[in-house]
Amino acid sequence: APKEKEDAKIEGAVQVAIGVKKEVDFASWYTNVLLKGDMLDYYSVSGCYILKPWSYSIWEEIQHWFDAKIKEMGVQNSYFPIFVSQKVLEREKDHIEGFSPEVAWVTRAGSSELEEPIAIRPTSETVMYPYYAKWIKSHRDLPLKLNQWNNVVRWEFKNPQPFLRTREFLWQEGHTAFLTKAEAEVEVRQILELYRLVYEELLAVPVIPGIKSEKEKFAGGLYTTTVEGFIPTTGRGIQAATSHCLGQNFSRAEMFNIVVEDPNDANIGGQGGKKLHVWQNSWGLSTRAIGAMVMVHGDNQGLVLPPRVALVQVVVVPCGITAKTKDEERARINEACEALAEKLRKVGGLRAKADLRDGYTPGWKFNEWEQKGVPVRLEIGPNDLSKSQTLSVRRDTGVKAPLSLDEIETTVKGLLDQIQKDMFVRAKEVYDGRLKEITKWDDVVPALDAKNVVVMPWCERVECEDDIKERSGRSSEPQDERAPSAGAKSLCIPFDQSRFTPLEIGKTKCTACGQDAKSWTMFGRSY
Ligand code: AMP
Repeated sequence: APKEKEDAKIEGAVQVAIGVKKEVDFASWYTNVLLKGDMLDYYSVSGCYILKPWSYSIWEEIQHWFDAKIKEMGVQNSYFPIFVSQKVLEREKDHIEGFSPEVAWVTRAGSSELEEPIAIRPTSETVMYPYYAKWIKSHRDLPLKLNQWNNVVRWEFKNPQPFLRTREFLWQEGHTAFLTKAEAEVEVRQILELYRLVYEELLAVPVIPGIKSEKEKFAGGLYTTTVEGFIPTTGRGIQAATSHCLGQNFSRAEMFNIVVEDPNDANIGGQGGKKLHVWQNSWGLSTRAIGAMVMVHGDNQGLVLPPRVALVQVVVVPCGITAKTKDEERARINEACEALAEKLRKVGGLRAKADLRDGYTPGWKFNEWEQKGVPVRLEIGPNDLSKSQTLSVRRDTGVKAPLSLDEIETTVKGLLDQIQKDMFVRAKEVYDGRLKEITKWDDVVPALDAKNVVVMPWCERVECEDDIKERSGRSSEPQDERAPSAGAKSLCIPFDQSRFTPLEIGKTKCTACGQDAKSWTMFGRSY
């Protein structure tokens, strides 16, 4: 049958679609998928990449959703300059120690050396907080909640990877100030929950919310909360987004001195009333999210996009047209495809497109849209038209099913919802299955080598974490040459400890050092 022949041709095309298999050479697979999926292009400055519309539109979906949510919380957008003077940048010692190796500097303008080099923001705490000190004069100015959608530059020396670790990246950074610690802490968790939803509901990527260890927390902050993702093919954890409680560290007198008078102080209004240093948070989500999504869902045919963020959710492809097909017949089929796409757009509110390009076979088009990860393909040929139906093909599973053209917008919407759900459920099953509860040190390295992350009773001591990194780096397996130092670090202390066997505080020992364990903590090799 002609249909079978067509399928055979597609099979042939599929074998070379990505060139390398995800399980065989993951690094090449990843870059091939991004290039063939038209997500990005390489750039002449190492560690920087061009985000093409196919990926930038995903960022816009994330922006759109997250922006609306934070505005509901009373956050306002603003924009601060990209440059920061050396003096201001270096004001907070721990903070700058954490970032200084990665700060890029402007030292020259035209042919003249600048008197003082100017830094490019790696993050904007020090850019913004001098003005917080200026703007916050009274407790009535609190809370102050600003966000910016911007770029930052971190001249990373670790192997750059598109989206995951780039030298310039796009993100949002929220910076808020409150009168009390309690208010600040509520917000830290609200934002983290939004990050979880971005990953789980928009990108269908499961994450585990928790708190970072002292060693891994944000430089200069009080504590860092995080959502931790997992890349199954490499067995590595990935820090997906972070919401920091900065405490009063940046608002201290010696730092940016952001103070208000105590509203409960009797002396209010007068001179010398009691000063309160504000409580601050900062929180960021970057374009890294796109990379994690590609790594989790992509397959050997290319990208697999979750419907909620796909620029094109449905592509309609005319089929069964041959060289012998009469012009009127060809036009009739093309019109039916266009009408279907339009109905899906106008009535269904879906992002649908008819691919009516001449000179490309259906098989070629199928292949291209598969590489680009479009969630649903609808095929219409003469037979489909006579039966008033279309053949639907799911990108995530390859499952084909004829759908009646009546109320097609409702069925296709349902199908997209189902795909979104199924993608998440499948990814979550994998993550859950590869998170190994471990209580014997000897089991840790083999578990990591088998591409798992581990969760173990831990003492939460910095020295112990250093030791774990060192001991877990001695793997029996040959290491990926691009990531030679593959010691494990702590990923997070999950908030939901109830999913693990209960710890007996004072009795359960740290798996690594034997001292008293405080929590179940996730450790893994990571990005
Ligand atoms: P941080 O301010 O260091 O907590 O970073 C906020 C978030 O940005 C992190 O949780 C990462 O997901 C992401 N991120 C950090 N460094 C990079 C980078 N070089 N490229 C892309 N995303 C990054």
